Amino acid sequence: RIVTSQKLSAQEEALERALRPKLLDEYVGQEKARGQLSIFIEAAKKRGEALDHVLLFGPPGLGKTTLAHIVARELGVNLRQTSGPVLERAGDLAALLTNLEPHDVLFIDEIHRLSPVVEEILYPALEDFQLDIMIGEGPAARSVKLDLPPFTLVGATTRAGMLTNPLRDRFGIVARLEFYTPEELTKIVRRSASLLNVQMSEEGAFEIARRSRGTPRIANRLLRRVRDYAEVKADGHVTREVADAALSMLDVDHAGLDLMDRKLLSAILHKFGGGPVGLDNVGAAIGESTDTIEDVLEPYLIQQGLLQRTPRGRMATMSTYQHFGLQPPQLQPV
Ligand code: ADP
Repeated sequence: RIVTSQKLSAQEEALERALRPKLLDEYVGQEKARGQLSIFIEAAKKRGEALDHVLLFGPPGLGKTTLAHIVARELGVNLRQTSGPVLERAGDLAALLTNLEPHDVLFIDEIHRLSPVVEEILYPALEDFQLDIMIGEGPAARSVKLDLPPFTLVGATTRAGMLTNPLRDRFGIVARLEFYTPEELTKIVRRSASLLNVQMSEEGAFEIARRSRGTPRIANRLLRRVRDYAEVKADGHVTREVADAALSMLDVDHAGLDLMDRKLLSAILHKFGGGPVGLDNVGAAIGESTDTIEDVLEPYLIQQGLLQRTPRGRMATMSTYQHFGLQPPQLQPV
């Protein structure tokens, strides 16, 4: 599963780390987020202060973790990394916070999944660099206040809408990551190809880029598979034709949709008459969790105009019918 697999194998993780750009200048695209961050980073450095807290949001694989690492590196500080679901108890977060050096970056992935008790102690930490925590239980319990070094929280989430208001309000810098253009992804594919010593023509790189759902993680994944194919079938050289043949073999169609995308759209078209249909029903029909549908599949399909989210449910569009070579239903005269 090229699109939906969220759990990376150890090998894939190592590869991602190797391909991760290290500096803001190497980070392709996302002009807005990059421009904003470079100014605020420079200002914080000039003043000798910690950078304001940063919230990054956008679909998986667009470069949130990468950007968090870059922020720390550009600031010249350490990065500590954790994620919302991992921090179960207040003490887990307290241990991390008390180990920070001044101006360090704490990166919390999936920050919308923090438990309420953990979130509660995060507020004063973010606002006043104070830790306010209960120690012990029952009559012996007492509250302890500790000063923390000034630090920067970088939070990442696939869904900004799921953050509580008080948490969202504590971020001074909020950046939304967008899907990449085929041209930007071509740059990323070419860079990765040269790091992996893959011989590739410009057209080969573009073919992979244009079929990667606007997502660097998918582009890098596809590049690896295409490389394998090229090594076995084409002396290792990736041309447009080789890329096309490899991607078709991987069930990535000409618009860059994979099996799960097509399954979702096809269910809406064929099982629910084009919609509107509720998310739960679609999920049940294709055997996929509603979270995965909302976080991973839908954002790109909506951006491409292949799916519409309406108050009454999900609907096919004219483009959905065209994608499947079907005649859109005639509009009823009013
Ligand atoms: P997220 O945290 O948003 O899920 P990651 O930061 O883990 O995404 O990015 C996935 C992979 O995509 C990274 O390993 C990196 O190689 C690549 N990548 C992401 N953004 C960029 C970018 N702007 N330029 C180059 N490569 C990128």
